[in-house]
Amino acid sequence: MEFAARIGAAAAVASRRAERSLHRLARPAAFALAPVLLHQAKALQSVLVWLPEPQGERSGIVGDGDGPPLRLLAVGDSTATGVGAERLDETLAVQTARRLAGRRGQRVAWRIEGLEGSNAAQVLERHLPAVDDGPWDVILVLVGANDALQLVRRGAFERSVRALVAGLGEHLAPGGVIGLAGAPQIDTFEWLPQPIRSLIGGHARSLDEALQRIAAAEARAVHLPTPAILEPSMHAADGFHPSPDGYFVWSSLIAPRIDDALGASSDAHAVRHGIVPPYLLERIAAAPSAAAAVAERTLGVDRGIRAERAATSAAPSRRPGRPSLVPGEAAPDRTISDAEHATTLPGTEVRREGDGPTGDVAADQAYDGLGDAWRMLHEAFGRDSLDGAGMPLLATVHYGRSYDNAFWDGERMVFGDGDGEVFAGFTNAVDVIGHELGHGVISSTADLVYRDQPGALNESIADVLGSLVKQHALDQTADEADWLIGAGVFTDAVQGVALRSMAEPGTAFDDPVLGKDPQPAHMRDFVVTADDLGGVHINSGIPNRAFHLVATTIGGRAWEAPGLIWMDALTGGLSSTADFATFAAATVEAAIARFGDDAAETRAVRDAWAAVGVTEEEPQADAPTAEAVRVARTGGMLGRTRAAVLELEVIPGDDRDRLDTLVASGRLAELDGQALPDAPMWRVTVETRCDVTVAEPLLPDEVLALFRRLLELGDEPA
Ligand SMILES: [Zn+2]
Repeated sequence: MEFAARIGAAAAVASRRAERSLHRLARPAAFALAPVLLHQAKALQSVLVWLPEPQGERSGIVGDGDGPPLRLLAVGDSTATGVGAERLDETLAVQTARRLAGRRGQRVAWRIEGLEGSNAAQVLERHLPAVDDGPWDVILVLVGANDALQLVRRGAFERSVRALVAGLGEHLAPGGVIGLAGAPQIDTFEWLPQPIRSLIGGHARSLDEALQRIAAAEARAVHLPTPAILEPSMHAADGFHPSPDGYFVWSSLIAPRIDDALGASSDAHAVRHGIVPPYLLERIAAAPSAAAAVAERTLGVDRGIRAERAATSAAPSRRPGRPSLVPGEAAPDRTISDAEHATTLPGTEVRREGDGPTGDVAADQAYDGLGDAWRMLHEAFGRDSLDGAGMPLLATVHYGRSYDNAFWDGERMVFGDGDGEVFAGFTNAVDVIGHELGHGVISSTADLVYRDQPGALNESIADVLGSLVKQHALDQTADEADWLIGAGVFTDAVQGVALRSMAEPGTAFDDPVLGKDPQPAHMRDFVVTADDLGGVHINSGIPNRAFHLVATTIGGRAWEAPGLIWMDALTGGLSSTADFATFAAATVEAAIARFGDDAAETRAVRDAWAAVGVTEEEPQADAPTAEAVRVARTGGMLGRTRAAVLELEVIPGDDRDRLDTLVASGRLAELDGQALPDAPMWRVTVETRCDVTVAEPLLPDEVLALFRRLLELGDEPA
């Protein structure tokens, strides 16, 4: 903590001196004073390297799988060596390696080569020669921060990086990729006083443009944007380096891009959406029981499996030319296969559409469950199968030996039999079948990315559809429904009722082996974790509870108004990276479109998202004229919301002019609705003239500063 104070004091001194020289000059002229600022920046930099590099072996291996590991090298400055993290496994390099391992179902061998304080020229000179142990599949280059602080000329920086990329290219495996991490967004470091912040921040942006140009010109290189990390918890004690959470967010942004860049030649892209989350299997595996061996095996299969049909899973088998749905004509098209306890898919066909029961309980339950799911989609939403175009419904039962999971592999449902000790089987829970097919509906619509908030949203919508399949099959109202996912999958020996509870997330089980249900029911309890792809099965409790609240508030059949609103939001152009707040806004819009702004249905949707903390509580509507300007900052990894409601008159004249000019310019409207993963979102409403939601990293400095001032000015009492 002392570091921060020392740095703050030093920076303040440096800045005060610089300000004396600069205060009459416009920012473009600041470079004329480069020698003065160079001195200040160097003084600043000398105090910025107080945090130690994490100690330990700078190489290792993460993930599971049988094949050869993917090889990842991180080379560069203190963000390569992981300053700000206490342990090496919290660094950007290792967190990125772990994410790549999870995404690809492949081990990743990583190594770090670098030194804090290095600029691009120094990395070229000192560290490139040390890279003699290729070939590497991924080389992550982290330079630019020190070049920015030292105000290294852009041309010189660009030459160093080009030489570095050329040199590293010699150590790159065929099909490998060089990731050029963007320069840090120093202009968002609020502790850094002006004008140094703008000067160095502006220079960092200019260096980042150089990195983008180099990546664009070099076929094997890709530019990896660095997020603006504004939450205090995302910074280490020096206020400059990311904290472990900051590296976590950063890795969540770059790992998918690296994976995509590697992707063309890879067959490891199919994501398996298992109903039983990995953390449950890990707990069972850690417990002394026969089920442990099974869970261990299930984990191994889950991680190690490669989609044999990567080519087809990317594009669900559609039927081109099929006429649009005529009521009464469409029907499900089911095929059930039996893997006979092997793990080869699809197995032997045992029942086709229209055939009578086979006598095999699992096969017949799967057949009936697929029928229930198809009927719910058809009767409630007018949707013919998962893709709305009559996609055949395929399932395989008796997958593996005592396999403890059921999953959707992008093409078919696959059911294990369970171990008989913890899991009794999966085909007997129609909501599990509905959940897995829900993933099929999602992948053919918004195709929400399966990690972090979009991933938890994906899981939640699958739970909603799964529960609706069950409620529809039983013709239950929202009040009659149990709102459980997977009731009946546990044996009697387990102290728990189901895998999840939508009504009361966190209460589905509390068992000596399984532990306690980890789901939160409110944003204040949002779980930040690298496990389970960022907690996709954990944080889904929050939107699950929102849907339950909507359904029980409106009352009646949940697949009617509540289900329609959710489906409208899902199918109405939702971004694949939508976070909870974005989806909440989409459901409100869908409710307004269907029922009107003042309708009870719309109110129920607004209230539900506020009740789970995704949006702020609605301000009391006693004085509508007072809400001339409303500014709210929401989302981000932590999903916090801050909002201010202001009358125009209370905004100082200069800022009122700036706001008017900004609204009139249409610049905000251009940025409206572009979401970035984990980025905080600003929603700004100005009378009836403007209502936009913009991702914070997209906002120019001066606009962000204006929004922050407005937020301060009208901060709502808690
Ligand atoms: Zn799922």
